[in-house]
Amino acid sequence: MGRAFVYVILGGGVSAGYAALEFTRRGVSRGELCIISEEPVPPYERPALSKGCLLPETPARLPSFHTCVGANEERLTPKWYKEHGIELVLGTRVKSADVKRKTLLTAAGETISYKILIIATGAQALKLEEFGVSGSNAENVCYLRDLADAERLVNVMQSCAGGNAVVIGGGYIGMECAASLVINKINVTMVFPEAHCMARLFTPKIASYYEDYYKSKGVKFIKGTVLSSFDMDSNGKVTAVNLRDGSRLPANMVVVGIGIRPNTSLFEGQLTLEKGGIKVNGRMQTSNSSVYAVGDVAAFPVKLFGETRRLEHVDSARKSARHAVSAIMEPKKTDDFDYLPFFYSRVFALSWQFYGDAAGEAVHFGDYSGSTIGAYWISKGHLVGSFLEGGSKEDYEAIANATRLKPAIKDLTELERQGLGFALTI
Ligand code: FAD
Repeated sequence: MGRAFVYVILGGGVSAGYAALEFTRRGVSRGELCIISEEPVPPYERPALSKGCLLPETPARLPSFHTCVGANEERLTPKWYKEHGIELVLGTRVKSADVKRKTLLTAAGETISYKILIIATGAQALKLEEFGVSGSNAENVCYLRDLADAERLVNVMQSCAGGNAVVIGGGYIGMECAASLVINKINVTMVFPEAHCMARLFTPKIASYYEDYYKSKGVKFIKGTVLSSFDMDSNGKVTAVNLRDGSRLPANMVVVGIGIRPNTSLFEGQLTLEKGGIKVNGRMQTSNSSVYAVGDVAAFPVKLFGETRRLEHVDSARKSARHAVSAIMEPKKTDDFDYLPFFYSRVFALSWQFYGDAAGEAVHFGDYSGSTIGAYWISKGHLVGSFLEGGSKEDYEAIANATRLKPAIKDLTELERQGLGFALTI
């Protein structure tokens, strides 16, 4: 038993949705394109899961955040895929792939063949067990990667009003979930091993701005230590979290956000891997010319940095997906992907954007006791990264533009003095 398509997108997340829209714009015919996804719903904007979905009042629910609303494009509902003759094979896990034969085998035993494959399998949340701690399956321990996780988190949260939550991990999932828990009237303690939150991106100064804000909302921070075990009741529910530093935190629920692993396993030994992802060229094409990779799973050349990177951000998923489709459908008109890395987050009433690379020396600007703060990163005499909290649309466009231009910076004190004005006048 089997079906054959010209184009198959494996994975039904953010990049799959943006790729589908691009295919229709470039003239895919009915019946040529198929999306296979383990999830039971068509592609949606994953960032909504830790933001709108967790709000206590008028929470976001599908179909309101199907792709491509995040980029102010059409919202692709199941009806849209039907109208465009795109086959959605949902609730279906692909269990093996054969890139030589150009086939995928689903868990249900169906063989789906393709002429061109786009791998858009994203990533999965790292589990506590991988760090030697058991208890991930307890009913009040939550992760957050897909819709099912979000629905579970909402249910657990609703059963814990007024109770205590421990958030494990100080990255953006931890930070966004902590904010949502507070908004849902739950007492939050965040635990992470680093010296400050968002350690991969934030400087200590930026981090303390956010940590102070969180503290003003009642969040407690325990840093420099990790979870060592859970105390469970007789029903297998977590009642307390034990930390390696010897402390014990009573808990009605736990949220774990300790990183992700790209879903590459189907292609290991078949395609070249790099930086934990599937290596692609500037056309998002893998080491097999009929196979492309996009989104969180792809390691692609970032021209601006002159090196291959794997990015775990929604903007990169959207744009790499569109670029791959353009390279597939109009190869002669498509240049190499020239991407300015962009990442954002929204928590409480705060909202920040980051462009480029957090490499080299940071120069801070703005009012760190007020509402607009920022930083530039200078590496090898050039501005390579910019961060801004509380800016206007024009401000964000200006820091993006300045980062893309990579201007030479001679005087860091002068840059600090000019602050946002530097980007606005460049
Ligand atoms: P995904 O969107 O993860 O989609 C992968 C899809 O592939 C899934 O549907 C999965 O089920 C499917 N799949 C995987 N393996 C198989 C298989 N074998 N068979 C069938 N299907 C399979 N980024 C930002 O820049 N800003 C944010 O504020 C932000 N917030 C986020 C909040 C949350 C809660 C999460 C989880 C992520 C957030 N991100 C954010 C990151 C962003 O969502 C990801 O970068 C983006 O979703 C990556 O898109 P993707 O298509 O590569 O993968």
